[in-house]
Amino acid sequence: MSNTDFMLAVEDLTVSFDGFKAIDKLTLYVDRDELRVIIGPNGAGKTTLLDLVCGKTRATGGSIKFVNREMTGLPEYQIVRAGIGRKFQTPSIYENLSVFQNLAVSFPRGRGVFGALAFKTDAEVRQRVSDVAAEIGLSEALEREAAQLSHGQKQWLEIGMLLMQEPQLLMLDEPIAGMSVREREQTAELLKRISRGRAVIVIEHDMDFVREIADKVTVMHQGKILAEGSMDQVQNDPRVIDVYLGH
Ligand code: ADP
Ligand code: MG
Repeated sequence: MSNTDFMLAVEDLTVSFDGFKAIDKLTLYVDRDELRVIIGPNGAGKTTLLDLVCGKTRATGGSIKFVNREMTGLPEYQIVRAGIGRKFQTPSIYENLSVFQNLAVSFPRGRGVFGALAFKTDAEVRQRVSDVAAEIGLSEALEREAAQLSHGQKQWLEIGMLLMQEPQLLMLDEPIAGMSVREREQTAELLKRISRGRAVIVIEHDMDFVREIADKVTVMHQGKILAEGSMDQVQNDPRVIDVYLGH
């Protein structure tokens, strides 16, 4: 396949670690405006898939196209610049800086060949910080030190730091781990909101949360896709019940 309307087109992707295929000829397409959830047993290769898409791990074979541009082989910073943001399980915020400062330092500066000319003014940075803070529900907390935030708020701040870069594809690995019930509900709303105009991929185990947010669910098993479809389709799929949901 040469051209695609998909935001993300992963085809025949493979990665071997000492002969063990953690990802095995995997093909996956994600649309714009889509919130895709990836589920599957531990060791299925979910995190490795995100590592490959964001360039942290090099593929052994296959292709990763983002808005029709091949990403395999690009260094991580170029993949970020292309518009792919990745949230890891442990938040990497600056605890001793304020929420405002955390967001402001995440503003991309000096992109492209005209780096110096692309430098943004303080007013532009402040405007973007204000927009992003509203999106992540931290408008009232801009002057607070990040260390003072709740666990959930820290996760949202990190999502905000990614949003400062205006990614078209956002990938999150188990974003609600350790959150309160209320924070989970707010995170569901946040993820649904930020998937508009973008594509969002979430790895998650909590099936109630998956049902709440997913447009489509992909079930991985042994580096391959076992099933894909609506929550109802995958939940009633005997193969999915056998390897994952039945346990
Ligand atoms: P999941 O996120 O679905 O639980 P992972 O992607 O973390 O699964 O891991 C898939 C498999 O690949 C596991 O068997 C894991 O041990 C292996 N694996 C992941 N990363 C590496 C690595 N860098 N080197 C060797 N094996 C790895
Ligand atoms: Mg994982």
